Amino acid sequence: MATQRLALRIVNWQRTHGRNELPWQNTRDPYRVWLSEIMLQQTQVTTVIDYYHRFVERFPSVKSLANADIDEVLALWAGLGYYARARNLHACAKTVVDLWQGEFPELAADLETLPGIGASTAAAIAAFCHGQRVAILDGNVKRVLTRYFAIRDDITLTATNRRLWEIAQNEVPSHQLISAQPDAMARYTQGMMDLGATVCTRHKPKCKQCPVQQHCLANELGVPEEFPVKTVKRRDKPVRDLNLLWLTVNGHVLLEKRPDQGIWGGLWCLPTDTNICSQLGLGAAVPMASFAHELTHFRMVITPWRLHHAAASQTFQTLNKNQRWVPLLSLDGYGLPKPVRALLAGIDDR
Ligand code: SF4
Repeated sequence: MATQRLALRIVNWQRTHGRNELPWQNTRDPYRVWLSEIMLQQTQVTTVIDYYHRFVERFPSVKSLANADIDEVLALWAGLGYYARARNLHACAKTVVDLWQGEFPELAADLETLPGIGASTAAAIAAFCHGQRVAILDGNVKRVLTRYFAIRDDITLTATNRRLWEIAQNEVPSHQLISAQPDAMARYTQGMMDLGATVCTRHKPKCKQCPVQQHCLANELGVPEEFPVKTVKRRDKPVRDLNLLWLTVNGHVLLEKRPDQGIWGGLWCLPTDTNICSQLGLGAAVPMASFAHELTHFRMVITPWRLHHAAASQTFQTLNKNQRWVPLLSLDGYGLPKPVRALLAGIDDR
């Protein structure tokens, strides 16, 4: 067993210096903890707060989320990105209701069988809600551990991750510490997240303010920013071109549901086939100025093709069941990709 040096310091530091007032804290409700953990994957805390409030207001329980229409879930999620998370969220809620009588399982191993819940998220829920002695290992924790133990192995390798999981599990609070401080697992789990997010940051870590500085090997070596080691070569992001047909008729815009797989999966979007307007007998659209939209793995260069048709006699035909004429005043009820919403709103926030 580890010395508990790390665990004890993190638990005590979290109590006095950690983040303790976030809206999903101070609860042991697995639904709320799960929701926040999924939202926090790849998204900053400050961005998540508003989304979290809107979600729990609209869906106060896992049952209400399971019963919701996926379009409504995607509409509330729009702007958070990584839309597979929203689809998994919905699928997970349904699974909890169908297979677990509407109650999230307690053990991390069971939580991990649910859609969209990986090992680290499962451990976070089990530790926060039930004090289970299971380690998390997200990006922040990997950074802290590789620095604390000066691990120079490439963290993109499976073998390194296996080793990090073992170390992480070895460092969780002992039974003895938990019996002295019953909230130790929750404090430790939150503390590791807080330390990585606020002190042991990727650049310029604040080692002088760090509760584990005294025993941190990277600090002793004077090179904390050399950890973690990632040998993947950075390449310039590839560029993809995308045409979007911005077709409006009498206060309505034509939208098309994206396939579930791929970018903006399941969201409503402007159609990508610019010939649709001539197929509908509405004339030809003209290209507008292109703009770039950055995604994690590539840069998208979007060219909107514009056509406004004012004929009052126009009927609202579509070419397939995935298309829908939507009143411009009703767009808030639709999950739209961020650049599409900004384009339709005429604001420069893409
Ligand atoms: S001493 Fe510095 S490098 Fe080490 S864990 Fe603390 S902040 Fe990170």
